[in-house]
Amino acid sequence: MHIARILEASAERYPDHYALVYEKRRWTYAEWLGRVRRFAQALADLGVRPGDRVAFYVSTSENSVTTYFACQLLGAVAVPMNFRLSPGEAAYILQDSGARVLVYGRALTENTLKIAADVRSVHDYISCAYDPANIPAGHHHFDTLAELTADRNEPRPVPDGNSISSLVYTSGTTGRPKGVTHTHNNDLAIAMNCVMEYSLSHADNALHIAPLYHVGGMQAYFIPHLLVGGTNVVIGRYEAEKTLATIAAEKITTLFAVPTQIQEMLFHPQLPDFDVSSLRLITTGGAAISSATMERVMSDFCPGIFNGYGMTEASLALVLRPEDALRKPGSCGKPTLITECRIITDDQNREVSPSETVECGKIGQLIVRGPQTMGGYWNKPFETQKKLKAGWVYTGDLFSQDKDGFYYFHGRADDMIVSGGENIYPREVEEILYRCPGVQEAAVVGLKDGKWGQIVTAFVVRSDPALTPERLDAFFKASDDLAPYKRPKRYVFLDSLPYNPSGKVLKRQLAAEFDPPDLQA
Ligand code: ATP
Ligand code: MG
Repeated sequence: MHIARILEASAERYPDHYALVYEKRRWTYAEWLGRVRRFAQALADLGVRPGDRVAFYVSTSENSVTTYFACQLLGAVAVPMNFRLSPGEAAYILQDSGARVLVYGRALTENTLKIAADVRSVHDYISCAYDPANIPAGHHHFDTLAELTADRNEPRPVPDGNSISSLVYTSGTTGRPKGVTHTHNNDLAIAMNCVMEYSLSHADNALHIAPLYHVGGMQAYFIPHLLVGGTNVVIGRYEAEKTLATIAAEKITTLFAVPTQIQEMLFHPQLPDFDVSSLRLITTGGAAISSATMERVMSDFCPGIFNGYGMTEASLALVLRPEDALRKPGSCGKPTLITECRIITDDQNREVSPSETVECGKIGQLIVRGPQTMGGYWNKPFETQKKLKAGWVYTGDLFSQDKDGFYYFHGRADDMIVSGGENIYPREVEEILYRCPGVQEAAVVGLKDGKWGQIVTAFVVRSDPALTPERLDAFFKASDDLAPYKRPKRYVFLDSLPYNPSGKVLKRQLAAEFDPPDLQA
């Protein structure tokens, strides 16, 4: 089955139900399907054929989701791009994907356009500018194509479920983003997985504040709500206050937010002024959330919080459900119904097979398998071989499991700190920091050190300006939960932590800035 069938099926069942709300505009399922079909026809008229890549470099908007589904109807491959990328990074993705069409938004700079012009594969440019008259010669205008093209209802081959639906680029936390090939079957499995885990229904109004160019926003959140005939409300640019106001105005029932957005809303002085009682669940993921934050969400914001763990290569593999959140603090929960998980000996220099699982309570690398896992990386056979073995995705993330089967994230293998020969996992230090009054955000990084190899360094954003290193030290000493050698040896107070758009702290950036100059690589 092709993934656009989801939209068609919901349009048959709920033609008059709102499918999409973006800024001041609303489309029912019947209206939006019409728009998607006309845009698909326009792409076909431009010569787009099954398998061709259509890249879109637009902010989170109606344009991005319409392009995604138009591609699916044609069997073309959607390539959503992070619209915050620099011109050089954007050109890399255009080049890597061999995109034939570039749909671009208002944020695109002339510089990027010039660089894109050097990418030989790109034949057509479609602008989402406000004014159709004001676009470069030879470019097409999105609304003109999507509104004025006659849908001739041409018979088209239905894409096979195993064909590629999209290339979704990873967040680039550890290097250049990698294009992950998603098939129609993968995306359908992800959508059904989320519908089951979150018990979604046509009565749900979802609010989108996370990027739709990532799996977490699009495949694991937007598409599942379409599958059940729910309404997707899209905010173009995330702001805490606007989000809270939209929850109240649109009677939002489900929200996906990355931990840093949640943190910002929780600390927002106007949180109590908005009626957010319609919210029945918040799902979070993409980065670790502290148990202190989870507790605070449950008491001040929304009792139904889910912490989902997944990656572009394997969406929603684990989920901690609200009923377990308080009794299993710090956990990512259990495997979702479609996912098999194992924790194996983490040895970077040796082939480790899925059978070499570690004992309960011990830390190792998580590997996952299921119908949602990727077919491989686009154009990267060597990387694919390293990451995908016998259907198992080697996540590179360190986990342990308790006797009740709950999984605990200890950080990326690459972020583990080795200080004086001892392994220290930043997550457990961060967990304690988040419990300390006056701490708003925290990230723990191993900075290079001539004596110890690395020293545990805590980067802290304060909500209380009176917080000092001495107070933090005293808090650690008073806590029984952390061995003394794991305590931070250095504190750095910052106004904000550096995040990428997926809400992940850029720990490499912090290390590059704060490692002693004489020890820098
Ligand atoms: P790249 O692979 O390009 O370096 P990335 O791994 O950050 O970037 P994504 O696929 O967007 O790209 O993110 C997946 C990663 O996010 C996981 O491997 C894990 O480290 C982290 N992650 C996802 N969900 C959670 C969660 N609930 N708790 C902790 N970490 C999470
Ligand atoms: Mg990754």
